[in-house]
Amino acid sequence: MPDASLTSEQLEFQQYARQWTAQNPAPAPSVRLPLTPLEVKTAPQIDYLRDWQRRCYEAGLVGTDVPTDYGGHGHNACQSIANRALADAGAPFMVNVVGLTMMVPTVLEHGTEEQKRKFIPGALSAEEIWCQGFSEPGAGSDMANQQTFASRSGDEWVVNGHKVWTSFGHFAKWMILLARTSRDHKYDGLTYFLCPIEGHPGVSVKPLVKMTGETGFNEVFFDDAVIPDALRLDDVGKGWTVAMTTLTFERGAGEGAGGGNSASNPLDKLIQLARGSQRNGQNAADDPVTRDAIVQLAITHEGIRSSSRRARVPALNDHPMRIPLQQKVSSSEFQQRLARLGVDIAGARSTLYKNDSAAPDKGHWPMSYMNTYGMTIAAGSNEIQRNILGERVLGLPKSK
Ligand SMILES: Cc1cc2nc3c(=O)[nH]c(=O)nc-3n(C[C@H](O)[C@H](O)[C@H](O)COP(=O)(O)OP(=O)(O)OC[C@H]3O[C@@H](n4cnc5c(N)ncnc54)[C@H](O)[C@@H]3O)c2cc1C
Repeated sequence: MPDASLTSEQLEFQQYARQWTAQNPAPAPSVRLPLTPLEVKTAPQIDYLRDWQRRCYEAGLVGTDVPTDYGGHGHNACQSIANRALADAGAPFMVNVVGLTMMVPTVLEHGTEEQKRKFIPGALSAEEIWCQGFSEPGAGSDMANQQTFASRSGDEWVVNGHKVWTSFGHFAKWMILLARTSRDHKYDGLTYFLCPIEGHPGVSVKPLVKMTGETGFNEVFFDDAVIPDALRLDDVGKGWTVAMTTLTFERGAGEGAGGGNSASNPLDKLIQLARGSQRNGQNAADDPVTRDAIVQLAITHEGIRSSSRRARVPALNDHPMRIPLQQKVSSSEFQQRLARLGVDIAGARSTLYKNDSAAPDKGHWPMSYMNTYGMTIAAGSNEIQRNILGERVLGLPKSK
């Protein structure tokens, strides 16, 4: 039955998106793909994923709501429909996640006409990969403590400093960069740049290895790197405000320009695992304790899905951070609980890692268990999100 809440444009687009995804399954990759975009490590992985994003973009499923002047497809509120169709088809994720979900919405809001035309099309097609240079060794939760310094020299800026945890730094052509341009003011001393990375003189990228053995994030060093003033986004001293736009999208506000959803029902894999595992002398799927734990997760999952529907109801969004931040906290913790239960159900077999042919689901569970810990830290730790929800959304007294 057609969804009565959809406009005629959305219904038509939904039919198209479902048809396209049914007729155009992603080709089988020749290499193992990582669980999320944050762990892309090798050239064959990125080449495959770039190609897939380009195909989805050409089909109108990426950049769906972005104006046509900037390389998009000019629809109205159809991106979430494209995301859902891709997720339901079990399609691979969109690899240019920083470009699609952070850079594009930020540039649309704060960029000049020239910046929108220059940067958005390449991000949609995945021709130009983006990374985010916000975190530093002394500026994570305390993001305003940025020490990377950009000093003005005529029509240029000379950048010196050190970024860390930069996902995609090793593949990125561009970085959304937050840098200090004045030491006299903490927040008003920050400025936002669209900074060239790949092969740019004065910029060096060093991969960091995670506990899974994958890379994904990096350290990025700036040593007298020169960038033209034309690559500054919004005014000098407005960096904090612009970064807040980026973070609100990073934490789940809006649909960005694509790739918003992952697997449509992450519980399916867990249920299959339980069906193929033993617990207390019986099939784990028949064990009441395991069944109860799976049902608890299913309830949380349904709550998260309902919450994303609530995000589309204007009357429930009196504060722009209320639902995105709730979603960031609950979905990252849901992913951790899911992976932990998978490891628990697989039991001793969870110690078999991805190269072991006897590992359940090719080693998915231990890898997922380790990677999901990053999810409660990335985009700002959940403790910080809870502080923001308490203080800014609910108006509770500020913590000391
Ligand atoms: C997988 C992954 C990918 C990432 N990708 C990027 C990226 O591409 N670009 C980028 O710029 N950054 C990236 N990050 C970095 C991320 O944004 C930071 O790790 C995060 O903001 C936390 O900062 P920190 O690591 O410096 O921890 P800290 O700020 O040092 O925090 C350490 C601990 O103290 C707690 N804490 C700190 N202050 C408070 C407080 N006031 N109240 C309560 N608890 C507090 C934190 O919750 C945390 O548990 C990534 C991180 C991960 C894990």
